[in-house]
Amino acid sequence: MQLEAKNLGFRYDRRQDWCMRNVHLSISSGEMVGLRGPSGAGKSTLARLLAGYLEPDEGVVLLDGTPLSLYKGYAPVQLVLQHPESAINPRWRMHKVLQEAGQHDAELLHSLGIEKSWLARRPGELSGGELQRFCVARALGAGTKFLIADEMTTMLDAVTQAQIWNAVKKMAVERELGILVISHEGSLLSQLCSRIIEWK
Ligand code: ADP
Ligand code: ADP
Repeated sequence: MQLEAKNLGFRYDRRQDWCMRNVHLSISSGEMVGLRGPSGAGKSTLARLLAGYLEPDEGVVLLDGTPLSLYKGYAPVQLVLQHPESAINPRWRMHKVLQEAGQHDAELLHSLGIEKSWLARRPGELSGGELQRFCVARALGAGTKFLIADEMTTMLDAVTQAQIWNAVKKMAVERELGILVISHEGSLLSQLCSRIIEWK
């Protein structure tokens, strides 16, 4: 499959400058692409556009030639952000979070370092790093074709970071996922990615 941004233009407010214009990007299944650039360049905005959280003002995001906005009911492009705390319903126990996402892959949960005893907890009873593992697991549910990782492991220690990326990489190979790794860490990108896009 192919996730393609064509001629993307976006502004948060009509009275303000364009946040981005004429942006083209293409990611294929099985490919891990890096994106790097200065703070404020528009990387997180692009991430939201690619995942369908925002609608572009110009251009289109296509999944195998079909506009992303036409995929109703399930989200083939998943986004994971830097901070997991606000991403998960604080009232739900983690087993329910995974169940809602159709995530029952015990091997993946294990390789992400998720312990069985955590499943009965709510988000407030987990550390940021523990919670982020669940965000990653949830994003890698059965319907997922592309993962957009926006500074996904930036706040984590090196060991946790390596563990999460090893798990994601393994899954990406097995299921031919396409992954966009947005990070300011050049070393992480060069370790993971076959192609790195430098933005502005
Ligand atoms: P990007 O938009 O490039 O993904 P972020 O949203 O991660 O960048 O961060 C935006 C700004 O907030 C950066 O200057 C970053 O250093 C800062 N920042 C992010 N997380 C924290 C934090 N937990 N504490 C303090 N500053 C942070
Ligand atoms: P990056 O991820 O590269 O740091 P962002 O996509 O976060 O860049 O931000 C790009 C520009 O859009 C910045 O000038 C930022 O201030 C602006 N911006 C981001 N989010 C919003 C928002 N919700 N409302 C208005 N402007 C925003």
